[in-house]
Parts: sequence; structure tokens; C-alpha cells
Amino acid sequence: MTYARAYIGLGSNLDEPLAQVRQAINELGKLSLTRFERASSLYASRPVGPQDQPDFVNAVAAIDTALSPLALLDQLQALEQRHRRRRLRHWGPRTLDLDLLLFNDQHIDHPRLVVPHPHLYERAFALIPLAELDAPLTLFDHSLDHWIERLEDQGLARLDENGSN
Ligand code: AMP
Repeated sequence: MTYARAYIGLGSNLDEPLAQVRQAINELGKLSLTRFERASSLYASRPVGPQDQPDFVNAVAAIDTALSPLALLDQLQALEQRHRRRRLRHWGPRTLDLDLLLFNDQHIDHPRLVVPHPHLYERAFALIPLAELDAPLTLFDHSLDHWIERLEDQGLARLDENGSN
């Protein structure tokens, strides 16, 4: 069986975000045809878009999977639903958001799935945990550091084991 390395971005800002993200990391390890490899530290970040909502808790997980990219997306969306994801408005609060950031070095342009994730290069809450997991990765022919150096301050703070910064 051939396994691909996939990086999943996790985010939550509703209903005990720390617990949502920790539990989702755990559940990624239980997906079929998938091995959990490692997860980044947890981070707190200011919301993108409307600011009148709680801060997010974010992390990135590395998994090895024999699922196809679309089958993996199906699994991620089912996992979001199990967390009773509530989508009240675009870029509004959510109990769990899962993004497929990278799938090997594949470029995918499908109506349901764009990989690398189109916002990855400009989002501190995805790039910085990703660099923590796998610093030598490249994105659009540049190092992760190249993109990280260009980020505006997005109020990202690494959390300790207790969830404090
Ligand atoms: P969002 O509200 O940001 O979670 O967007 C969810 C939608 O984005 C779903 O309809 C997905 O099919 C689509 N999508 C496209 N590319 C990706 C990706 N790389 N990871 C997750 N969802 C994606």
C-alpha cells in the first residue's frame, strides 16, 4: 500500500476550543488507512474576518494515509460534522475547522479540493505550526521561512500544555 504524507490544519473557537482540537487530533489517528505521525503545539490566534468572536485555537497534524485526497477530505468533513460544526456565517465562529493543507507535493485543483490550501502561504496559524513539524518543506517553490518572514502580525501565540500563553 502506498502512503502519502498529509498535513491537516485544525482550528476551533467555540465550545471549549482546546478540547475540540485535542480530541480532533486524537480522532485523526483513528481514520481508516491512516497512521498518525505527529502534531504541532497548540496556538491561539486572532480570528480572520469578523473580530467580534473568540480567538481560535489552532494546530497542524501530520498523517500518513493511503486514502485518496478526496476520500481524505470526505473523512475530514465527516469528522467536522461529528463535532457538530456550526457555520453561522462565513469566516464566523466554528466548533471545528479541518483543512487539508498539503498532500505529498501534489497540486490539486478540484471543485471540492484545492491543494496546497490556497490560504496556507498567508496564514500564520497554519504556516508556523507546519514549520514546527517539518521545517524543510517548501511551498510554491519557496521555503516555509520565506513565507513566514512576509507575514503581518496575526497575534499568534504558542500555548503551553495547560492551554495558557
Ligand atoms: P471552509 O469553510 O474554509 O472550511 O471551507 C470548506 C469548503 O472548502 C468545502 O466545501 C471544501 O470542499 C472546500 N475546500 C477546498 N479546498 C480545501 C482544502 N484544501 N481543505 C479543506 N477544504 C477545502
